Amino acid sequence: MSQVLGHLTWPEAKALVPARTLVIPIGSTEQHGPHLPLCTDTLVVEALCQALAGSFPERILLAPTIAIGASDEHRGFAGTLSVGTEPLASSLQALATSASGFARVLFATTHGGNLPAIRQAARGLATAGTECLWWWPGPGPSGLVRAGDLHAGWLETSLLLHLAPELVRLPLASPGPGPGADKLMPMLASQGVAAYSASGVIGDPAGANAEAGRAIFEAMLADLEAVVVNGRGRDV
Ligand SMILES: [Zn+2]
Repeated sequence: MSQVLGHLTWPEAKALVPARTLVIPIGSTEQHGPHLPLCTDTLVVEALCQALAGSFPERILLAPTIAIGASDEHRGFAGTLSVGTEPLASSLQALATSASGFARVLFATTHGGNLPAIRQAARGLATAGTECLWWWPGPGPSGLVRAGDLHAGWLETSLLLHLAPELVRLPLASPGPGPGADKLMPMLASQGVAAYSASGVIGDPAGANAEAGRAIFEAMLADLEAVVVNGRGRDV
């Protein structure tokens, strides 16, 4: 039987739901420089969750992907859509509450901008007594991360070259400013990415390749699988 929730009928779902973890991929629709598509985060997290479902065919059902998240820091770049942190948090909390018949809910994202909303939802759910795990890859798989490679740089470009090379405009890839953390975070919060990087890239896509993308994907997947195995996600 399918692990895609939307492909099931309700009687089929009724039989499966009590023993399954509902995995909810949370992406974004936001600028990823001139060379990566707006759906980059959505595509990556959806591929990870699909692979996760394949790893645990008896334990997981896959919810529809949430393709618009909290991306206010990317305002000013054409095509970016965002519902913002508060609405995302309350909708995630309502969503997980509606899924209370499942054994548990697991939120997954690769977009750091979604984290405040996910944390807020997870805290609210915990207070209400609903079990909810969440995962994101942290700064990235250890040994595969480059300093300052924050957005549409080497890591994300490699991931897309692995997952959807037809969507990568590689000749348009060029470096953005390094992060300069002291200056970056306050600037992102108050003025957004546009004030810091005209292209939207923070990092350097130089040297990105599909082989590296596969290694990054596998490392992220192993980390995500551990959440299912251990029944323990990131801390709220
Ligand atoms: Zn991204």
